[in-house]
Amino acid sequence: MKFKVVLIPGDGIGPEQVDASRGILYTLPNLYGFDVEYLEVEAGDGCKARRGVALPDETLNVLKESHACLKGPVGETAAEVIVRLRQIFDLYANVRPIKSYPTPIPPLKGDVDFVIVRENTEDVYRGLEFKPTPDIAVCLRVISRKACERIVRYGFDLARKRRRKVTIVHKSNVMKVSDGLFVEVSRVIAKDYQDVSLEEMYVDAAAYHMITNPRRFDVIVTTNMFGDILSDEAAALIGSLGLAPSANIGERFALFEPVHGCAPDIAGKGVANPCSLILSASMMFVWLGERYGVEEAVKAGLALEKATIQALSEGFATPDLGGRYTTSEVAGAVASKLGGIHV
Ligand code: ATP
Repeated sequence: MKFKVVLIPGDGIGPEQVDASRGILYTLPNLYGFDVEYLEVEAGDGCKARRGVALPDETLNVLKESHACLKGPVGETAAEVIVRLRQIFDLYANVRPIKSYPTPIPPLKGDVDFVIVRENTEDVYRGLEFKPTPDIAVCLRVISRKACERIVRYGFDLARKRRRKVTIVHKSNVMKVSDGLFVEVSRVIAKDYQDVSLEEMYVDAAAYHMITNPRRFDVIVTTNMFGDILSDEAAALIGSLGLAPSANIGERFALFEPVHGCAPDIAGKGVANPCSLILSASMMFVWLGERYGVEEAVKAGLALEKATIQALSEGFATPDLGGRYTTSEVAGAVASKLGGIHV
């Protein structure tokens, strides 16, 4: 089969990251023997400035005909782009791996390897806000049994492929009804996974343990806003947001993107770390391969992560990690390692 993959460069450092990674994206399928057709479309601030809309119908139509999307960060219009895409494609699981890599400035904590699985469709991010009076603002938190069930199941299935531990992160002592439901569902689902250990933790305690003892975590499953905040904290543990990839997974489609925003402070300088996008591409190839039974794509994804680790361990790093290389030099170093990787 031929995979159709949509590329959205996005704003700020996004186009720099995508441009630097093109060599990798085109080389990998050839090296591993599978077919990919890339289709490039636009979305984000620049698109809105040019066309009056941040997520044009044309972009949506191309996405609907594809298998997956690799997207750079977008700026002010993030809610109009990624939040809508999550809703339209029902991308319910936001998967954010946190791994320490060999970097010139050592990470805050070495030997870290856990995944945050964040519910992606509801919670306070549903945007249900209003003012009953001019001086009172209300934001509704929506937590449904269906969304809890599928995100918790996703977390347990993932834990089975890893170290078999799930930590449910919540605040049910305060949000007794909404997080009460999340915890109740987690306990029911856990019964189907007797081989995976279940831990429950309040979100404030999780924020603390993430710094003091991150190695205790394997798979963290949490609601939308807690997952959003904890994953930026987790990225600080490994040294830079520039090393943090993510996946937005649905039943039939998935979108892969760096965790970070469009970083306007460093845009246009050629110093953005491309690894967050490269590692997102690695997750994409593994997902495509597993979802459609194409082993070569799984191997390509795993090889891409290994090549990234090799390039970093040889000192090819951007300034955020204490290195002196540019975006394209680091991506070029990763590309040059690909041929020598065995998985
Ligand atoms: P947003 O509100 O969209 O998240 P932001 O500017 O507040 O945007 P980020 O874009 O995530 O937040 O950036 C936070 C910090 O991390 C900035 O100082 C930025 O330069 C840095 N940063 C983010 N991504 C990278 C990257 N790929 N390489 C180097 N530094 C990065």
